[in-house]
Amino acid sequence: MNLPPLPPPEEGRGEGPSTSTPSTIAEALQTATRHLTAAGIDNAALDARLLLAHAMGTDQATLLRDRTAPAPPTYGPLITRRAAREPLAYIVGRQGFWTLDLEVSPETLIPRADSETLVQAAITPRRAVKTVLDLGTGTGCLLLAILAEYPAAWGLGLDINPAAAALAARNARANGLHPRAAFAAADWAAPLHARFDLVVSNPPYIPAAAIAGLMPEVAAHEPRTALDGGPDGLDAYRRIVAALPALLAPGALAVLELGAGQGPHVMALARAAGFRTALRADLGGVDRALLLEI
Ligand code: GLN
Repeated sequence: MNLPPLPPPEEGRGEGPSTSTPSTIAEALQTATRHLTAAGIDNAALDARLLLAHAMGTDQATLLRDRTAPAPPTYGPLITRRAAREPLAYIVGRQGFWTLDLEVSPETLIPRADSETLVQAAITPRRAVKTVLDLGTGTGCLLLAILAEYPAAWGLGLDINPAAAALAARNARANGLHPRAAFAAADWAAPLHARFDLVVSNPPYIPAAAIAGLMPEVAAHEPRTALDGGPDGLDAYRRIVAALPALLAPGALAVLELGAGQGPHVMALARAAGFRTALRADLGGVDRALLLEI
């Protein structure tokens, strides 16, 4: 193990093995869990296990079969990173979303389970969808999940960050969706002259002044361009709602992710632009998706 010093022990007892002797898995997990707990991480034991499994190139179940096996020297640095509140997904470089296993990097937001509400809304009820546009695609999670559900559809994902567009393209290939998915760097839909059956977006929607108060995993590690919605959090919605009439094919649907409490505001913007609207809640009961139709 190669961990930074822990806070002083309460009982003056030893802190486990010295750094010269390799720790067993059981010892390493215990030390790492204490370290992550001291760093204010809620599910410290789970993160300690997931990071050890990652360091050993295995899964949690296999890991716990032989708790006397030595923990690898690469484990300590991973725990140090997590204790500095780097998100687990950036450390392991992967995140599950819908049915997909996706690569993530600090160039993109980490896909959230809440965003699966948009996928559900896009496929329930099923629609005649041949073309899909994802604005601010990040990892490509929304577009790729939707293409997986509409096997005859083709989709385009745009992101202002070329590194995000490149990562999304890798995710398409890794999930076998590359024949039907294209990605490019663009400032929202500015260069497009095309209409789509379905337009989705999880835009940046955090009011700029609120970002510093978010949990450190988000505020200090996730890309600011993926979070910052301007002074009132609604800048991106204004751009998107203004662009949508020229992007939607006849009978098309747009689905936008909402931040908690933003439903009435974004709905008002959409209605002022002539759209019919409906809300869908996430599993936590928060209005998470706004559906727009002309
Ligand atoms: N579309 C991506 C996601 O849902 C990125 C969203 C963003 O960067 N705001 O995770």
